[in-house]
Amino acid sequence: MKKFISLIFFVVLITGDLYSQKDEIYDKYEVFDSHFHLTNYIQKGIDVHRFLEIMGDKVGRSVLFGIPLQQQWSYMNSGEDAPKYYLDSDAPLYYYSFTDAYIAMQYISLTDEEKKRFDPMITGFNPTDMYAADHIRRVLLTFPGVFSGIGEFTIHKEFVSSKIAGEIASLKNPALDSIFSCAAEVGLVIILHNDINKPFPKAYTGNYLADVKDLFRRHPDASIIWAHCGLGRIIQPIKDMAASMQEFFDDPGLSHVNFDISWDEVAKYIVRNDTTVQVVAAIINKYPDRFLFGTDEVAPANQESYLKVYRMYDPLWNALTDDAREKVRKGNYKRLFDAARTKVRAWENANKN
Ligand SMILES: [Zn+2]
Repeated sequence: MKKFISLIFFVVLITGDLYSQKDEIYDKYEVFDSHFHLTNYIQKGIDVHRFLEIMGDKVGRSVLFGIPLQQQWSYMNSGEDAPKYYLDSDAPLYYYSFTDAYIAMQYISLTDEEKKRFDPMITGFNPTDMYAADHIRRVLLTFPGVFSGIGEFTIHKEFVSSKIAGEIASLKNPALDSIFSCAAEVGLVIILHNDINKPFPKAYTGNYLADVKDLFRRHPDASIIWAHCGLGRIIQPIKDMAASMQEFFDDPGLSHVNFDISWDEVAKYIVRNDTTVQVVAAIINKYPDRFLFGTDEVAPANQESYLKVYRMYDPLWNALTDDAREKVRKGNYKRLFDAARTKVRAWENANKN
């Protein structure tokens, strides 16, 4: 009997331990970051160990990507004036595939416990190239056990898209479809940046919403996050934005599409006043499974600047239900990226040489 009781005790102890292990990171931290850049437009940034310090006791998990584009330092354009950002020079941007190896090596330098807190993403492909999907598969098989998704990568982005050397990206390019198909087949989360509208829309210009929806509908098996809900520094919400977005929630053909509310430039629209907070909170409270928090910080210097966007959202956090707040901060991240980890590892195992 004594043996039996100690056996029961042992089993409870073990399963209790397994359970707490499973959700240890989830329980211990306040928020997960679904949109984070370790490096900038000239491929410089912070070391992942420094990023862990900055995440501190606040941020439990984060995606990990650089920026797929490199700003060329053209001496003929700017001389000794070395650009650090895409607006600093007229010289072009080009796709910098080495970012994937760099991000993988940063991840590999972590301990097993630390690795659990990151979801590295592949970004170093040209979305107009029919060979882009081959690059993604090659990265996965070169660095198995590392990546959970692709992106943030960009199709339409103010001032950026037109600066990229070579063919202009398009939502209608079959190369983009082959990338989405590859991600769906492997189980990779897709984080896509595509402005919802043109930077300075006119009466005669169209927005990108219909083409975005068509693209997403063509790939119902993909796990998609539309970065910044299509908004940006000068990309304002379109007329009747809430109504235009409703289709994403009503149409089962778009139920695989989620939205991140990352970037201070997006937060500024949402927390502009009580009305904007209430409108957005009502949508998120109604569809709490569809939104993720992200910072969109690029190589932050310290925790205070890293968490600036998180703090900006205080009025929104206060306006959400407990359930919605929990899902936007952590629950949806865990669900999407845990599913991706499982599927991508299985694909890697099935396809290794
Ligand atoms: Zn970003």
